[in-house]
Amino acid sequence: MTIKLLSEDVASRIAAGEVVERPASVVKELVENSLDAGATRVDVETRQGGTTLIRVRDNGSGILSQEVELAFKRHATSKLEHATDLEHIATLGFRGEALSSVASVSRTTCITRHASEATGSQLRLEGGTVIHRSATGRPPGTELIIEDLFYNVPARRKFLKAERTERRHIDAFMTRYAIAYPATAFSVIHDGRQMANTPGSDNVREVLLSVYGPDLGGSLLEIPADLTADLEIQVSGFVGPTTVHRANRGYMTLFINGRWIEDLRLSYAIIQAYHTLLPVKRYPIAFVVVKMPPEDVDVNVHPTKAEVRFRDGDSVFRAIQRTVRATVVTHAPATATWSLDQVGSATETGDAQTQASATNSPAQQNRARLAALRPSQPHIQFPPAQSGPTNVGAPAAGSTTAQAGTTASAGVLVPGTIPVQPAHARSRQQLPPLRIVGQVATMFIVAEGPEGLYLIDQHAAHERVLYEQMLSNATTGQVPSQPLLEPQVVSLPADEADRLEEALPALYKLGLETEVFGTNTFLVRAVPAQLRHIAPADLLADVAAAAGESSPIRAELEEIVIRHICKRAAIKAGQVLSTEEMNRLIHDLEATENPRTCPHGRPTVVQISTETLARQFGRGGAA
Ligand code: ADP
Ligand code: MG
Repeated sequence: MTIKLLSEDVASRIAAGEVVERPASVVKELVENSLDAGATRVDVETRQGGTTLIRVRDNGSGILSQEVELAFKRHATSKLEHATDLEHIATLGFRGEALSSVASVSRTTCITRHASEATGSQLRLEGGTVIHRSATGRPPGTELIIEDLFYNVPARRKFLKAERTERRHIDAFMTRYAIAYPATAFSVIHDGRQMANTPGSDNVREVLLSVYGPDLGGSLLEIPADLTADLEIQVSGFVGPTTVHRANRGYMTLFINGRWIEDLRLSYAIIQAYHTLLPVKRYPIAFVVVKMPPEDVDVNVHPTKAEVRFRDGDSVFRAIQRTVRATVVTHAPATATWSLDQVGSATETGDAQTQASATNSPAQQNRARLAALRPSQPHIQFPPAQSGPTNVGAPAAGSTTAQAGTTASAGVLVPGTIPVQPAHARSRQQLPPLRIVGQVATMFIVAEGPEGLYLIDQHAAHERVLYEQMLSNATTGQVPSQPLLEPQVVSLPADEADRLEEALPALYKLGLETEVFGTNTFLVRAVPAQLRHIAPADLLADVAAAAGESSPIRAELEEIVIRHICKRAAIKAGQVLSTEEMNRLIHDLEATENPRTCPHGRPTVVQISTETLARQFGRGGAA
């Protein structure tokens, strides 16, 4: 083939591939244009996840009648004149690619009126070609209607996900921009249903309440402006308190000079700021807005402008890390001790207690706890090693209390009573019979078994138990569900609500009886009996997060939901357990199919052989 210049049509379709990946990218480009045009009101409407219709209407400056066609030409922009302008860009757009790209892969209608003109214009394009033009009346501003996206790019159409997924992307984007631009009123309607509507009162808290609901929106902490008031890099925004966290990183949002960006390293600055303050594998909710000199950040590195390059990335990292940390720590002095005892209970029991415990060192606390424990700890007679296996899970054990000796004797099984399988025939996954010795660091259960010493992680073990119980309940359809005395109303952010709605049938199967109660609001009527101690709002947030991780296959969704819920429901590290509770837990763990790992794959049991112990004590043999 000879070398030819591509036709404008082919070139713009190639460019469109970079800019327009999915309906949400169209919404992004159009909304950014509206904001660049100074709009104080932006209304977004979609049908079928944006595949058949995306409408974005604003009250911004509008486009001059003589420039409407030009706006749809590639590299046509009003935001940039000279190459040097690229060094200090203050608008969201500047590449002049969006309208031409979007128009080239859809049927587009643009209705616009510039504030200085008496009539407006209407332009209709198909696949980028103008097919109709007329004069029209409308208030100043612009409306873009994008129909049949990718109708002429079947390959791209094939890659579109389920409508819900596409809607979710749009909602996630709109939520972020509504928070970043509080002075602009945004509304979102999907298939005729109003999903979001922010007041545009220039009050971020009001937006947060409106998009996240009163619980979450009210709990977020504002980064104090004075932390960076006089500095070149100014950080503001809202971050979650340490009691609010999520299972994935998707709840951290970064805006740099009014632009939403994705930057792994800066997300890590936020995660770092919560170091030791959150449970492992949990991530903060954060909305961080950075203002800095435009010349110190290069926004022209990515077609969708989602990535930027900094002249001095380290100082941006530090500014974010410091301000977020300062905000979180000031509001939550108590959680300084979190790393040792990931105290579910401490965060729930209120400030007085957590503050008191913050003044003690973790070691001191442990000592105090141990002292408190000692009197109630039964004195257990070690049975001679050869007297046969012990089984702490024997039914009688559950009813024993702290009387000396009872637990042990009740727990000992006569060898002959071990059902069917002899010990050596048990699969490796299974647990040997164990006899509880006590609890260490309010985290681990110490037990004796045939192979020596066993340490059981109480949280991981309980997670495993709950997980298998709930999974089997869901499979057999026998769910012990507990009706709430008063049904609870829970509101969620639009994208979470959408995901939750998708999961509702699965939730019924799990005993979490929840129904839609209004826009982004749900009514919880009953919860699984095992989870009655958890706030319904927390449960639903977990489920929504879980649903976000699943593929739409129902069975898998249930499994993921259960895994998420168990994490929150399980006994925490830091919780003192009675011997009876430990016995029951080990008993339940023995009954599971995979007692050796928690549902997330971490070990539940660590074993130290008698030989190893003997060696540590300098004894030659095991004896
Ligand atoms: P860019 O935003 O990079 O300039 P676009 O292709 O998105 O490129 O838009 C081209 C031009 O059309 C913009 O520079 C602007 O002048 C005009 N324009 C697009 N959308 C709007 C709008 N909603 N209101 C006013 N002007 C608009
Ligand atoms: Mg643009």
